[in-house]
Formats: sequence, C-alpha cells, structure tokens
Amino acid sequence: MGITRRTLLVGAGAGAVAVVLAACTPQPSPTTSPTATRPPRPRPTLAPGAAPEPAAWVRSAWSTDPYARGAMSYLPAGATPRLREDLSSALAQRVFFAGEATDPDRPGTVPGAVDSGRRAAAEVVAASSSEERIAVIGAGAAGAAAARALSDAGRTVTVFEARERTGGRIRSISGKDWPFTVQLGAWLSPTEDAGTLGGTLAAEGIHRIGFDAATGWSKDGAAPTVDGGPLKAALERAANAASDVPVDEALTAAGANPEDPALAAALAWVQATTGADTAKASSWYPPSFLPDALFGADGDLSVLVDDALDGVKVALASPVSRVAYDDSGVSLRLGTGEAQSFDRVVVTAPLGVLQRQGIEFSPALPFAQRGAIAGLASGFVETVWARFDEAFWKADADIWHVVGGDGPIRTWLNLRPVTGHPVLVGLVGGPDAEAFAKLGDDQALLGVRESLRFFVAETPSPSPTPTPSH
Ligand SMILES: Cc1cc2nc3c(=O)[nH]c(=O)nc-3n(C[C@H](O)[C@H](O)[C@H](O)COP(=O)(O)OP(=O)(O)OC[C@H]3O[C@@H](n4cnc5c(N)ncnc54)[C@H](O)[C@@H]3O)c2cc1C
Repeated sequence: MGITRRTLLVGAGAGAVAVVLAACTPQPSPTTSPTATRPPRPRPTLAPGAAPEPAAWVRSAWSTDPYARGAMSYLPAGATPRLREDLSSALAQRVFFAGEATDPDRPGTVPGAVDSGRRAAAEVVAASSSEERIAVIGAGAAGAAAARALSDAGRTVTVFEARERTGGRIRSISGKDWPFTVQLGAWLSPTEDAGTLGGTLAAEGIHRIGFDAATGWSKDGAAPTVDGGPLKAALERAANAASDVPVDEALTAAGANPEDPALAAALAWVQATTGADTAKASSWYPPSFLPDALFGADGDLSVLVDDALDGVKVALASPVSRVAYDDSGVSLRLGTGEAQSFDRVVVTAPLGVLQRQGIEFSPALPFAQRGAIAGLASGFVETVWARFDEAFWKADADIWHVVGGDGPIRTWLNLRPVTGHPVLVGLVGGPDAEAFAKLGDDQALLGVRESLRFFVAETPSPSPTPTPSH
C-alpha cells in the first residue's frame, strides 16, 4: 500500500517514463563536470489525462514537523490500551502527562485531547495547593484545556509552546487564495454534534459541513464504493485468534487480499481517517474504520484553543528541551538554555515528539512510561487543499475513493456541492502520508494531479504553474 511500493508514471520531455517516488527524499543536485555540459533536466510532466494544475494549493507536513512527528496515536498489534494508562501516570506527583495519546476513550481526537487535559489538571489540583506555580508544555487542545482548568482552580499557570502559534495539530488558515478557511489539521468528526466541542463551535458561528455521498472511480470508470464487509469479517475472525496480528495479516488470514484495488481503497480510507498503518495496527484493538459520513467545520478552529487560553500566560516560540524533577519541584530548560522553576508541570507534547526524545527527562522516565512511549504507535495523516479555476471532474459525490492507479492520495473530499467552490481536499494516511510529507513541492503537485486522474471529465487545457501558498 505504501507509496514506496508504487510507481508514479510521469512523462519527461516527449516520452513517458516511469519515475519511482520510492526514495521521495530530495535528490542531491548533480555535480557539474568541468569537461562536459549537460543539458538541464526537463521538469517532469504527467502523462496526458491527469488533473489540471490547481489555481492554488496548500498541504500539511505533520509527519516531518519536529513538534508533531505524526497526526494521532494508535495501537499496533500486540499493544493494549493499558499503555495509554502507563503513559499518563504522574511522576512523583510533580510531572503529569496529557495529550490525545493518553486518553483512554477517544485517543487520536480533539475531544480526547481536551478530556486528557482536564483529567491531568484535576490530578494536579488534587496534589497541589492554590498558591502553586504550574507549567504546561504545549498549547494544543490538551494543554489549553489543562491550563484553563488549572487557572480556574486558582493556580498560577504558564504555558510553554514551541511554535510561534497556539493550536498544535489544529491549524486553520485563510488568505486571498481561498474562499473559506482551510484546515490542515483536525476538522472532521464522524458525528454532527462534534461531541463536547459542538457547543463551542456553534457559539463561534462555525458551521458543520456534511460529507455523506461516496463514490469510487477506477481506470475503468465508476467503481463500487468501498466495502467494509471484508474488513469487518476479518476483524471478527481475528478477535478470536490466539494472538493479536496486524489488520492486513488478519485480512490475509481471512482469505482477502489487502493489495486488491477495492480493498486497498477501503484500507486507504481507514488510514486517511485514523493515521494507522494497517500493516501494523492491532486487529484486537483496531482503528475505527469506514465512517458512513464525515462532518467538517467551516471556520477558524483556533478558537477551540484560544478561548480556553484567554487570560493565561502563554510563552510562544519557547520549546522545552529538558524537564528535571524531584520531590520539591520541577525545573524546565528552554531551547534558549534558560531554566525556569515551577511546582509542577503538565507535559502535553505529542507521542511522536516523546518517541524521538524531543524532551529529556531527569531522572529518566520509569520503564513503564518508556515502554508505553515505545509501544504505542504514531499515525500519519496529511491533507492537501486544491482550488481549481473550474470543476474538471465528472463525480458529483462529496467523498471520492480512488480505486487502483498510481497516485499517492486515495481519498478526496469534494467541497463543491456544499460551498459552490471548485475545491478538493485530499486525505492520505499511514505510510503513504509519511512518504507524501517528504516530497518536494513539484513531486507533491504531480502526485495530486495523478491521484485525480480517474475523475477528469475531459482533457483539461493547460494552466499556469501555481506557487503553493504556505
Ligand atoms: C491532519 C490531521 C487531521 C486530523 N483530523 C482530526 C479530526 O478530523 N478529528 C479529530 O478529532 N482529530 C483529528 N486529528 C487529531 C487531533 O488534531 C489531535 O488528536 C489533537 O489536536 C491533539 O491535541 P494535543 O493537545 O494532544 O496535541 P497537539 O495539538 O499536538 O499539542 C501539543 C503542543 O505541544 C507543542 N510542543 C511539542 N513539543 C514541544 C516542546 N518541546 N516544548 C513546548 N511545546 C512543544 C506543539 O507545538 C503543540 O502545540 C487530526 C490530526 C491531524 C494532524
């Protein structure tokens, strides 16, 4: 399923050649020979029939972002939800953990992150007195919820955020290129009320956009839409097996072929909505799969975090590199080298950051916690928003599945039916997302256009090369 196992057909010059995007890392520039002058390599173009170039496009790169290193956590085969509990255990009642990866009920989601922040804050309040100074590492949904609850409980709170903005994996952007707010992080929910966050969204006048009419397209035209039947049957069978195996293995054991284009499209949908690599994800605790509908949010979602941080001291561009703790308090070392002391700290840095030891702990974390960090998996999801001058496609549905083909993005949301604007949103998850994040802009754009090939109504006319808006 991975991009590394696929070939993207692109044409260079007159003839079509196969360029393997396997290594997807930037190529070193060719060294110039003093004796021979080589002609410049032509910019690769796609074989005829791919989608036209968008008028504007923008994409996320959470997989390579040093302060995210992934989109959401999941359980690989052999892991159990107990690991989330281990990860959230407090150290000496001084260092507390929150963040989506620690939430037992809704991990990998914004509501789960908010709940985890409130849970950690309640633990801190129970362990502390009202005059204490509490630090919170991270100004995402979990950090903001923790900071709000601690501040409301009378504690003096300082939030340290590595980036120059709040929100973490919630990222809404707007600009002249876009008729509405673009969401590069969380913005979807399988339910219309968005759980506990629904009230905040409604109060801010943020509307929900529903996506519920799915279609599949292959090189032969319209294909049956993705079918969750084989996956459901395989997982039911795997639930009774002697040991936990990855989802793909459970499918194979049940006689299905994960490489079959129809099933691969279904698995790509699972990966795009959960980040989980189905070649690794647990079949005992599988990622939630194949929602019938998705609800997006049309508006600036930073309010979900900024409302909670109202009145709280937030230090932006302040990465914490080390947390030292003992029975008397904690000391945080910032990226600048400066150290600051607090009574307690709530750590909400993402699992991917902890896995890469982005924060050093002194003394080292207990084995149970390190085991949890190593045992949980970071899933990858990347999002591409593309606005076209006009709709070139033949599909009216608002969820598109790409069945087969060589494009890296297998799932698309069509915003035209709800907004009237020819804007498509590509969702790619699992190892394909990690590979896509590493592509340069030129290659990523080719991947976008190749991925949409089956939906093109007729040969589009050439359009000027756009610059991605970041
Ligand atoms: C593309 C994508 C799509 C998603 N889609 C959905 C969705 O549709 N619905 C849904 O519910 N969820 C979705 N999620 C997941 C959701 O975004 C997360 O579960 C949630 O936002 C996590 O919140 P958090 O506070 O735990 O972590 P984050 O939001 O990651 O917050 C952690 C903060 O810590 C900061 N930080 C990291 N290291 C340091 C350091 N050393 N020092 C100081 N600060 C640091 C980070 O910059 C960040 O701001 C999606 C995620 C992605 C990436």
